[in-house]
Amino acid sequence: MAEHTISTLQNFVDGRFVPAISGRTLEDIEPAKGTLLHHIARSGSQDVEQAVQSARCAWEGPWSRWDTEARAALCDRIAQRMEERLEELALAESRDTGKPIQLTRNLDIPRAIANFRFFAGAIRHDTTHSHHQAEALHYTRRRPIGLVALITPWNLPLYLLTWKVAPALAMGNVIIAKPSEMTPWTATLLAEIIEEVGLPKGVFQLLHGLGTEVGQALIEHPQVQAISFTGGTLTGAKVAAAAAPHFKKLSLELGGKNPTLIFEDCDLATTIQGACRAGFANQGQICLAGSRILVQRSIFDAVRDGLLHTLHSMQIGDPLDPQTKLGALISAEHRAKIEHYVQIAQDHGATVHCGGHRPTLSAPFDQGFFYTPTLISGLPQNSPLIQEEIFGPVVTLQAFDDEADAIGMANDIRYGLSATVWTRDLQRAHRVSAALECGMVWVNTWLQRDLRTPFGGFKASGIGREGGSHSLDFFGELQNITIALDHPTPSEQTGALASFGQRTLPPQATPLTRSRS
Ligand code: NAP
Repeated sequence: MAEHTISTLQNFVDGRFVPAISGRTLEDIEPAKGTLLHHIARSGSQDVEQAVQSARCAWEGPWSRWDTEARAALCDRIAQRMEERLEELALAESRDTGKPIQLTRNLDIPRAIANFRFFAGAIRHDTTHSHHQAEALHYTRRRPIGLVALITPWNLPLYLLTWKVAPALAMGNVIIAKPSEMTPWTATLLAEIIEEVGLPKGVFQLLHGLGTEVGQALIEHPQVQAISFTGGTLTGAKVAAAAAPHFKKLSLELGGKNPTLIFEDCDLATTIQGACRAGFANQGQICLAGSRILVQRSIFDAVRDGLLHTLHSMQIGDPLDPQTKLGALISAEHRAKIEHYVQIAQDHGATVHCGGHRPTLSAPFDQGFFYTPTLISGLPQNSPLIQEEIFGPVVTLQAFDDEADAIGMANDIRYGLSATVWTRDLQRAHRVSAALECGMVWVNTWLQRDLRTPFGGFKASGIGREGGSHSLDFFGELQNITIALDHPTPSEQTGALASFGQRTLPPQATPLTRSRS
């Protein structure tokens, strides 16, 4: 690997890479080594103001005349350039997040590319409704909103950023994006790609910095008309509060504490692999992670032992080693939060079946933010480990007796993002899925995505849905237009009926006339 020089990742404003106006910077740390990776621009309200003015010029300029096909072709070109730079993007994402490169190569970056390809197709094939009355024709069109703010977290940086950028661009909006300050690298590479493919300046802009500084200034700016936010539930509440007085359009994709329900009639081997992946992929730092495993009592020991066997075989360490299954956590602070939760479990006499400590790794990874995969049982339903989102490699195990018990435990929580059900009984699969209070249920699989389906949560897991037509609805304003139709005159009516009879009936038949009733 070529030697890495520590550069400053800059903002992308008005078509140029520029430092923050204040000249201030932040440090971006490589989680696997605990060392400095980049400096990044530390933006504030002045940077927001400058970007908003550029976005306004872009909105009023030639971009407004790009038609559907031009915007779809642009998304295709971005996808094409990302494909050409896939290896570079995968390496950057792995180093910036600490996640295994086998994940960024096979999941994060390919799915980010798929987002652009998908929304190129979605707008090419988009249809809207028309409604017909004798006196009027009503037709509905989507139009872009204007300036949208996109705020994204650190766990799936490029994947989640493109999930918003692609539909927002495809719909013809102008964008200011603020990625997490902990993972700014691939967002900067995306800005480079967007510059290469030739988008008018000001259409896509990127501001780096802290959520509490530039993020807050962005969502509060009166000219930002819509906010698509993915992040924690507490931050989501602040975003909602800032948006409400201005009636900004809002999409909130928030936290989760998702149950994995395992019934005694499941295929045990497949279930254990699936539950393990759901619980520990990306070190458990996925909003959809199955961090609460609920198992029918009759197979509790078998599931626990199977999970332990699989977890012991997972390689932890250097994220760039293709054999690595578990990389580093995002930061030292995040690891300390996870350690705090495990300490609570130990203090309450719960059983820590595996993990619960830092692994022993050789340099330079001994300075990284690693934590062993941890499986805990013996916690009551009201434990913070069951109720709160830990967002790390800590999974709880609970036993249930029957379906009602399982559904009760699964739903007894403030979150409602997703759930997974493992069973071979089709009727049970339908019944249990319908009873779960969450936006997405997977049966005998996990993280199987189709970009056309609605993505989003119930309860404290968010507001609104993205994906497919839901994203086009969010990033567009629906406008209905009603055109009055002229009432046909009596002579026109007679003529129409006569010509209908002549066209469709054989010569010897009597033309149809309407009888009076
Ligand atoms: P976070 O702390 O809420 O941050 C998310 C983003 O919001 C970051 O870019 C952050 O910037 C910014 N931010 C923070 N405070 C802000 C403010 N006052 N105003 C505007 N922006 C602000 O979340 P995270 O720790 O990055 O990500 C983990 C969380 O995201 C978990 O709860 C996870 O479940 C959730 N998540 C949800 C989904 C979903 O689709 N439902 C997907 C992925 C992740 P800085 O980081 O720079 O401060």
